[in-house]
Amino acid sequence: MKKIFNFSPGPASLPYEVLKKAQNELINWNNLNVSVMEISHRSKDFTNLVKNIKKDLRELMNIPLQYEILFCQGGARTQFSAIPMNLLYYNETADYVNIGHWSNKAIEESKKYCKPNIINPVKKENGIYYIKKMKYWNFGNNSKYIHYCPNETIEGIAINEEPKLKNKIIIADLSSSILAKEINIKNYGMIYASAQKNIGSAGLTILIIRKDLILNNYKKRKELPSVLDYQIISKHNSMFNTPPTFSLYLSGLVLKWLKKKGGIKYISKINKQKAELLYSTIDKSEFYINNIKYYNRSITNIVFHLKNPEKENLFLQKSRENGLYYLKGHKIIGGIRASIYNAMPLEGIKKLINFMNDFEKIYS
Ligand SMILES: *Cc1c(COP(=O)(O)O)cnc(C)c1O
Repeated sequence: MKKIFNFSPGPASLPYEVLKKAQNELINWNNLNVSVMEISHRSKDFTNLVKNIKKDLRELMNIPLQYEILFCQGGARTQFSAIPMNLLYYNETADYVNIGHWSNKAIEESKKYCKPNIINPVKKENGIYYIKKMKYWNFGNNSKYIHYCPNETIEGIAINEEPKLKNKIIIADLSSSILAKEINIKNYGMIYASAQKNIGSAGLTILIIRKDLILNNYKKRKELPSVLDYQIISKHNSMFNTPPTFSLYLSGLVLKWLKKKGGIKYISKINKQKAELLYSTIDKSEFYINNIKYYNRSITNIVFHLKNPEKENLFLQKSRENGLYYLKGHKIIGGIRASIYNAMPLEGIKKLINFMNDFEKIYS
């Protein structure tokens, strides 16, 4: 098999060891003579699996006991409606921070349930984008929570500062940055992420939510669907309806893989190194450009353009021939995007950088 590196933004590449293990035990899981997809989600074997996923996630992310882990379906986008439906009563409202595509999609959906107070902290100076620090954001007086997306997967722009906002409920869409670096859970009211970028395969969405936000004593919208109701999901141990069993299983393997590697402390060092290598290659060259201020650059989605956009298709074609897959930028931004989640080894970055340098030499 030819060694390739997969830079897909999502669903994204999975660690080779994880795929190999899943392949090995596909038709006989846990010595049951059947696959993990073919047993009851209420069986002992499966409920143990889920218990271990929670345990490993708690350990990896240092999740305090006053937070609950919920497994949901419908992707991050379902949470764009589930969050306001669960946490806002009819006349209540929330702050929504807009820094890019996914923030904006969450805002659009929230408008069905409230009049959001929208914060637009992205600024442009001399052609360079940056994000105003949190202390300058204009929060609403009556907002119940603040929703934001710290890592915009499409634009590659990020809020790398931790949300240290006392007495505020921070809700963060970490779909493309969960497990990439250490965060302090206590700074958040709720974190959510769909699994297909840095956790496992599509179908699973992980919620980490402070228990007081799902207590019984708040007023609930009468139309809130049971499958989206955090209280009901929690009461049924994330098994109110059949969970995405294979996606849970794969995510469990990824968490074990990450633990064995040395956890988030270890992987975040590698991630930082990967991103720095790539950005410094872009910044040094006269051929590639990234127009985001260094402290607002994503460490997982590195977006850049060629100064001569006519060469971009050739770049994509040649990179593919060199075993560097799925580097095409999102259609709303164009250019090149290298998504370098935990499963992307340093080796892949070095290969990409060599390719970029060679391509520049030939075509500049
Ligand atoms: C991919 C992505 C989404 C959408 O996730 P789905 O699982 O497709 O709903 C939302 N937010 C962010 C930050 C993403 O990267």
